[in-house]
Amino acid sequence: MSSNTTEGPPPPKKRQTYEAGCHCGYIKFSVTVSPPLPETKPLRCNCSACRRFGYLLVYMVRKDVEWHGDSWTRLSRYQFNTKEKDQLFCGKCGASIGIDFRDSYAGNHPSMFGISVRTFNGIDLDALEYRTLNGVDEVQPAEDLSGKQYELDERKTTSSTREEAEQELAAAAAIA
Ligand SMILES: [Zn+2]
Repeated sequence: MSSNTTEGPPPPKKRQTYEAGCHCGYIKFSVTVSPPLPETKPLRCNCSACRRFGYLLVYMVRKDVEWHGDSWTRLSRYQFNTKEKDQLFCGKCGASIGIDFRDSYAGNHPSMFGISVRTFNGIDLDALEYRTLNGVDEVQPAEDLSGKQYELDERKTTSSTREEAEQELAAAAAIA
């Protein structure tokens, strides 16, 4: 009987750091993924954001993303739906970077980033396997908001709730 299997801390998980960035080079960062690709399978989700931004996401705690130079302050941010997360992209070239979850899961998880592996330098996207998520049906309050958020925001200046804004939008669409 060996006691070695129960003694001491578990072996540290394998980690790998990848250099990443946008298309034009305005945003540069490194990301540590544990376990390394391809063992970590990026998430391919069908929600309105993942579809439009082309996300293939891996997730990590905030300290595992190191933003180089001024990249953190250079990021452009977009919020939709509950607006509790920031969709990150480069305002110069438009490249999609990932999601800053901020405190949207506070209490349950440490604050995380979801970073699209499409930003990783020199990896073969076709060699990876992906997890899939039917986010449009399974993640609440997701729905297909493609093409709606701008008008919802405009309507919100005159209506107090999102429901009111959506009703106004539907009424306007019925007239048009
Ligand atoms: Zn760029």
